[in-house]
Amino acid sequence: MLGFHNENNRCSFCGRPGSEKRVLVAGGVNNEIKICSQCVEACQQYIFNLESENGLKPIDLSDVSSPKEFKEYLDQYVVGQDYAKKVLSVAVYNHYKRMASLNSDSLPKYEEENSDVKIEKSNVLLIGPTGSGKTLLAKTLAQKLNVPFAIADATTLTEAGYVGEDVENVLLKLINAADGNIQAAERGIIFIDEIDKIGRKSENTSITRDVSGEGVQQALLKIIEGTVASVPPQGGRKHPNQDMLEIDTTNILFILGGAFVGIDKIIEQRIAGKSMGFGGNVGTMDEAQKMELLNQCTPDDLVKFGLIPEIIGRMPITVALKELTKADLTRILTEPKNSIIKQLQASFAIDDLELEFTPEALEEIADIAIRQKTGARGLRSICEKLLMDLMYEAPSIKGKKKFTVTKEIVQAGKVSASESLLLGSRQTA
Ligand code: ADP
Repeated sequence: MLGFHNENNRCSFCGRPGSEKRVLVAGGVNNEIKICSQCVEACQQYIFNLESENGLKPIDLSDVSSPKEFKEYLDQYVVGQDYAKKVLSVAVYNHYKRMASLNSDSLPKYEEENSDVKIEKSNVLLIGPTGSGKTLLAKTLAQKLNVPFAIADATTLTEAGYVGEDVENVLLKLINAADGNIQAAERGIIFIDEIDKIGRKSENTSITRDVSGEGVQQALLKIIEGTVASVPPQGGRKHPNQDMLEIDTTNILFILGGAFVGIDKIIEQRIAGKSMGFGGNVGTMDEAQKMELLNQCTPDDLVKFGLIPEIIGRMPITVALKELTKADLTRILTEPKNSIIKQLQASFAIDDLELEFTPEALEEIADIAIRQKTGARGLRSICEKLLMDLMYEAPSIKGKKKFTVTKEIVQAGKVSASESLLLGSRQTA
C-alpha cells in the first residue's frame, strides 16, 4: 500500500489534495484510487452506525430460560406468591417467543408455516397490597432477563402540560436501560407501579388526586397499544425544535401493578348474588378464599375502580398477590438470598460482630410489621431502628464479639445502651 501526503495527489472520494494532515492511501492496479485519512474516518463512523442499527442479535429461544427456570430464580428471592411467579414467568417467556417470531428463522416449523399468525403481546396486571412483593418480583425478574427493563411509578406521571413527568419519560428510562440502543429498547419490558392511583376521580371516592388521572391513562394507553413515540433525550418537558428519539412501542411488554384497595369488596358485591360460595364477607375469609376471590377480578371491577376500559382491555392477564401473613414475614426476614437479616449480619461482620436472632425475636418483628400494615416493606426499618445503638457502639469495641437479639429486645424496641456496652465483655476471642 502506498501513502502520499503531497498536494499533487487528490482523494478519489472527497477530491481534496493530500497534505501533512490529510494523508492519502492509494490502491487499485496502478495505485490510481486514493482515499484520504478524513474519508477513512468518515467511513468508519458510517459503518459503525450501520452495524449498531442492524446489529441487534436476534433472540434465539434456545438461549432463553424456560418458565420453570424463571420461577425457580424468583423463588430464591421472593417468598410465597407462587401463582404470580408462575404467571409472570410465563408472560416473560411468551414475550421472548413473540420477539423470536419477529425474526422467524429461529422459530420452530409450525410458526414458519403459519407466518400470518401473529402472537399478540400479553401484558400483565398485578393486584396486591402494599409491600406484598410486586416491585420485588418485577425487579428480580429483570436481573434474569436479557432484554432492557424499566420501573416507573404512575403517581409521578402527568398529562403533558401539567407539573410532573410526561409519560414518555417512562420510555426514556427503558432507552437508558438499553444503553441508548433504541432497537433493543423496543423489545423491552416496562413495570409501572401504583397504577390504581391514577383512577378517574368520579368513580373512586378514595382518591384525592387531581382529575388529570384520566389524561395520564390516555397517554399510557397510547404507548401500551403501540405507537411511535417521540422522547426528549434529556427527559423532562418537550421543547419545540428539540431533537427527539423515536421509539416504536408496539412490542414493549407492560406489567402494571397496584394495590387496588377495596377491589375485593367490589368483586364480592358483584358475585354475591350469583351464589359462588362467597356467602360471607371479605372480613371473615381466609387467605385462600380471598385469593380465589381476587383472581376472579373482571375488567368491569377494575373500571369501577377508575381505570379506563381501554387500558384494562390491553391487560389480558390479571393476577392477585396475597397479603403476607406473619409466617410469610418471618420467612422473608431470613430465607431470601439477600434477606434483611443476612444483610444485617454481613454488615455487622465487618465490625467483627456475630449477630443472631432467636426465632421468637423474628416472630415478634413480623408481628410489628403486621400491625403497621405495610407488609414486608416495614421489616427493614423495624430492624434498623432496633439495632441503631448496636450499630453505633459495635465499631468502637475491638475484637470478635457476638450479640443475640431476643424477643424482649424486640418488644423494648431497641437494644439498650447498657446491652450494647456489655458487648465488650462478650468477646468470643
Ligand atoms: P409492593 O411493590 O408490593 O408494594 P415491594 O415489592 O416494593 O412491595 O416490597 C417492599 C420490600 O418488602 C421489598 O424490597 C422486599 O424486601 C420485601 N418483600 C415484599 N414482599 C416480599 C416477598 N414476597 N418475599 C420477599 N421479600 C418481600
